[in-house]
Amino acid sequence: MIIDMHCHLDLYSDPYKVAAECKERGIYVLSVTTTPKAWNGTSKLAEDSQRIRTALGLHPQIAHQRAHEVELFDALLPSTKYIGEIGLDGSKEYKEHWNIQLKVFRHILKSIDREGGRYMSIHSRLSANAVLDELEGIAGTPILHWFSGTKKELKRAIDMGCWFSVGPAMLATKKGMSLVSEIPMDHVLTETDGPFAKISRKPLFPWDAELSIKQISDIWKLREEESREVIFNNFKSLLCSS
Ligand SMILES: [Zn+2]
Repeated sequence: MIIDMHCHLDLYSDPYKVAAECKERGIYVLSVTTTPKAWNGTSKLAEDSQRIRTALGLHPQIAHQRAHEVELFDALLPSTKYIGEIGLDGSKEYKEHWNIQLKVFRHILKSIDREGGRYMSIHSRLSANAVLDELEGIAGTPILHWFSGTKKELKRAIDMGCWFSVGPAMLATKKGMSLVSEIPMDHVLTETDGPFAKISRKPLFPWDAELSIKQISDIWKLREEESREVIFNNFKSLLCSS
């Protein structure tokens, strides 16, 4: 069973072809979006598959260009249980837009909280502590995608009950492997972040979530089929958690 908890299905050159292949292979996909405007169109990719779910998002890297779409976000919120990609980005290129990122993220979290919570796929590049500050007291289930913070931030996130989706690109680094080794086994899920994330300069596809299994198995000292089972059970318990 392949699970891709964070994939930008709508950004592949032929999204319908990728969606059809996911359906054929029986892959579970959380299809995240970067703007509320993309939600309707991206939802169409999931129409023929029970296993593809579309998340409503507003990516922190474009928050400064799309801040006005928070109204559309609020209007669409009742139609979905899944939110993403949302979050904050503290890297050099986006730091100048920090205030607007924060304003958008706060607005979104407030709306989610008012609606009783959602599953949230969250970006926290160079901003983990700030993301966790904002998540305090918000209803819902946060899934930190491609977590790259410090060990201390990781511990805080674990204590707050966050889930983690980890992919081949994260596991390709020593730091990523070391972080994954400290996440409780029952809160780990797989992802790709395709087509943004690449391995050997090739964009990842949802079925490449399977590539993570080998490395996760090395960390857990389990056989691959055992790791696959742990992750599928995690996925089932996540879906029962709210
Ligand atoms: Zn992403």
